Amino acid sequence: MSRENFIGGAWVPAKSGATDEILAPATGESIATVASSDAADVDAAVSAAALAFREWGTATPRARSEALLALADRIEDNLDELKLMEMNNVGKPASIIDFEFDLTVDNLRFFAGAARTMEAQAAGEYMEDHTSMLRRDPLGVVAGIAPWNYPLNMAIWKMGPALAAGNTFILKPSELTPLSALRLAELTEGILPAGVFNVITGQGETAGDAIVRHPGIAMLSLTGDVNTGRLIARNAAETLKRVHLELGGKAPVVVFDDADIEAVIACLAETAYYNSGQDCTAPCRVIAGPGIFDELVAGLEAAVGALITGDPLDAATNMGPVISAGQRDRVEGMVSRAVASGARVVVGGSVLDRPGYFYAPTVVVSPAQDSELVQREVFGPVISVQKFSDEDQALSWANDVDYGLAASVWTRDVGRAMRMSRSMMFGTIWVNDHIPIISEMPHGGFKNSGYGKDMSQYAIEAYTELKHVMIKH
Ligand code: NAD
Repeated sequence: MSRENFIGGAWVPAKSGATDEILAPATGESIATVASSDAADVDAAVSAAALAFREWGTATPRARSEALLALADRIEDNLDELKLMEMNNVGKPASIIDFEFDLTVDNLRFFAGAARTMEAQAAGEYMEDHTSMLRRDPLGVVAGIAPWNYPLNMAIWKMGPALAAGNTFILKPSELTPLSALRLAELTEGILPAGVFNVITGQGETAGDAIVRHPGIAMLSLTGDVNTGRLIARNAAETLKRVHLELGGKAPVVVFDDADIEAVIACLAETAYYNSGQDCTAPCRVIAGPGIFDELVAGLEAAVGALITGDPLDAATNMGPVISAGQRDRVEGMVSRAVASGARVVVGGSVLDRPGYFYAPTVVVSPAQDSELVQREVFGPVISVQKFSDEDQALSWANDVDYGLAASVWTRDVGRAMRMSRSMMFGTIWVNDHIPIISEMPHGGFKNSGYGKDMSQYAIEAYTELKHVMIKH
């Protein structure tokens, strides 16, 4: 399969003629060739999006909403093909794919509805003989730079609120997983006017960097690595464009002695290895009470040991490969260094001997709080389990990382759940659960996990400018 960029409603190759190979992580084999874009292609996309903004930016909320609802219907009509594309390109198993696509379609429908319900302070006379009113106006051309772990879902998280608010949009999917974004572009044909939605494929350092530096782009939303976020914020400062950063996570799972241990084990065995642990909110740092620590470790050993890792297309598979050879080697290196510094692997802990990029679902017990495994994001199928002595230590360990995206606390004591929720510095806190997300609620983090929100009404507001209009009587 060979694919080109989607610019101004037309399919065009990179102006340089350069291409990138796309690999299937379950086999390591090439499945497609796509355009490898640079600044000239980004420039063309910005011109097309700027032209389209004249009409899309002044369309009624109803018109924009109806277009996004029609696109959601069309995605739903093509779900089987899109799911298969994502299974091949990311290595997602068939057993988990439905949840992600249900959320993706619902996210788009939510943004379509929210386009019609923007809110602001009432118009009124705040100075004599003057009426003040507030408008929420779109920014212009907005860009989204997406990661590889949920390619289509991340595309919708970025384009949904941007288009709902009246902006036009340029998407740069990850260089590893551009296929579903290109198919999405095809699905917009006949629904979105030319230039409203554009897709540029290519590497971060070329296509991505050209987006970051382009003066014609008013706002940029990145989901990616912390180091990428730092670099982008620095480079975007030159043009003072708005930057929204959804970066990594290192989610603690604080389990008190009074928790429902069976529920904790069942939740972790599913959600920590969901998408091969390549999820920024994945539960990965279990901080367990002294009274249940041994029972929890034994339960995890059994439940995680029973997970089936293998061919994503086999319905029995719980977990597929990680995204690339580099990611597999990174996971292996982090587990090896944890063991060398005194932690113990109770299950997994090795690369699987088969083609593709597979690492076994792994549980590592008792790494030190200041160790790499506790402090750095693995982004793979690995959880650590530590034993705390009291509530103060549990809270201090939970907060003692540079990240602040998501966390969970497990207890039957409502007061303790409330105290912990108040003091844990994470953008989402689950009580007696971990992972569920919903379109109406915001997603985003504290500290190095970035700033700004995806999903919810708050995401849409970020893609608008609040304008004061004051009329003298
Ligand atoms: P990445 O930072 O390597 O790449 C993300 C995107 O940024 C890609 O499209 C890439 O091409 C682009 N990019 C890279 N360098 C760039 C540059 N110099 N200028 C412009 N663009 C550039 O991240 P990844 O490896 O694709 O994704 C994994 C990371 O994403 C993990 O750290 C994970 O935690 C994070 N993530 C965060 C969330 C969240 O909501 N907070 C969700 C999913 C993933």
